[in-house]
Amino acid sequence: MPYTITDKIWEAHEIAKEDEFSLLYIDRHLTHEVTSPVAFSDMKYKGYKVRRPDLSLAVMDHNVPTDSKENPTIDELSEKQMEALWNNSRTFNVPLLDFYSPYQGIIHVVGPELGFSLPGLTIAAGDSHTSTHGALGALAFGIGTSEVEHVFVTQTLWIKKPKQFRIKINGNMKKGVSAKDLALYIIGKIGTGGAIGHIIEYSGETVSEINVEGRMTLCNMSIEAGARSAIIEPDDKVFSYIKDAPLAPKGQDWEDAVKYWKNLKSDPNAKYDKELEIDAGSVKPMVTWGTNPSMVAPVDGYVPYPEEVKDESLRNEYERALKYMELKPGQKITDISVDYVFIGSCTNARLSDLIEAAKVLKGKKVNRSVRALVVPGSEWVKRKAERIGIHKIFIDAGFEWRHSGCSMCIAMNSDRLPPGKRSASTSNRNFENRQGPGGRTHLVSPAMAAAAAVFGHFVDLADVEIAEVM
Ligand code: SF4
Repeated sequence: MPYTITDKIWEAHEIAKEDEFSLLYIDRHLTHEVTSPVAFSDMKYKGYKVRRPDLSLAVMDHNVPTDSKENPTIDELSEKQMEALWNNSRTFNVPLLDFYSPYQGIIHVVGPELGFSLPGLTIAAGDSHTSTHGALGALAFGIGTSEVEHVFVTQTLWIKKPKQFRIKINGNMKKGVSAKDLALYIIGKIGTGGAIGHIIEYSGETVSEINVEGRMTLCNMSIEAGARSAIIEPDDKVFSYIKDAPLAPKGQDWEDAVKYWKNLKSDPNAKYDKELEIDAGSVKPMVTWGTNPSMVAPVDGYVPYPEEVKDESLRNEYERALKYMELKPGQKITDISVDYVFIGSCTNARLSDLIEAAKVLKGKKVNRSVRALVVPGSEWVKRKAERIGIHKIFIDAGFEWRHSGCSMCIAMNSDRLPPGKRSASTSNRNFENRQGPGGRTHLVSPAMAAAAAVFGHFVDLADVEIAEVM
């Protein structure tokens, strides 16, 4: 019987089956300060131990201040959460990348860049966007608090096998179009519930052309279409991406691993529960106008008229979203001005994302009405950017060059979008209050965010000069 890549990894990790649920062995477990405290407390109470601390990695990301390492602005709750993770990781012997670690960053940036996440593995984390790691060809699941405890104690997870949804993307992307635009376009097309209960497998020429970090953006955003996870077959680009990563296999182990990984492909006649084909050539740079990622339009488009929406509940959602976002039906997307620009998050804060933004910013200045922050996805990304000198492009343009963390993606520390202010953000969620109470978020790619910072409103990248930076 032909198998998909998901079937192959699933079968290699399935220990037991009961009704619709499988008990999967989990190869890697990532955790952070927000979803781990309850699991650790319960384990302490019950006298449990972490079964494989060597396969676990704790990272401080959600609450960390990004303004300074020497004199950080930190609120009481954030400090408590970080302290709890520090104490728990010592008690349970779990390796921790704390606030001062040179490898600290957002778990979904750190896992792949350190080679902790690898092709063919099962990966779990108490965080929705764990699907990101699927870009390496891993089966990666976001899990809830009780499951975090289960994985810590048993290194296994009870899980119902998701249905499978193949999205083929072919065709050449237009100038200024990135993986983020493809992701927003797809969510706009299938809706926030379009992939519920499925794992999305991305394939096609365009996906092969996109670099590994762009593939992470695609897999990361899949959660916003309701997907349980996302995956892409690993190829030579993936192998080069992880080859010299500190935790990747070395020597003969590396050769053996690559031999195995090269077989992690879906068989030609494998069956999917759902399929969709996208022509990348028809996609334009995208901007969300509403309060979920499916409320999106091309940059040369308009804010929609709710009265044209037939479905009553969707029409009501549109009306509510426009009220919250303080936008008018028929308003041109390019007429929407922004107060803040945030380039960061596990969706778009890797080195290639910063390079794309720097290409737009080189030789230009941030508009006087805009406050602009760039928050690298990890301290290592930050150092790599500084080594190639692109941090100077951001600083010269007027951006704040920050330390890594989730920052204004979730506003759990002092990085917040003030009430009533409007941001162009490279993150993945534009829900009400997500970037700060009363804040209004427009999701875009890093290059689109950089252009909005310069012009003070959204602009079509087709009309913007893009410089070489390396
Ligand atoms: S950057 Fe945002 S979406 Fe990603 S892990 Fe942090 S809070 Fe979650």
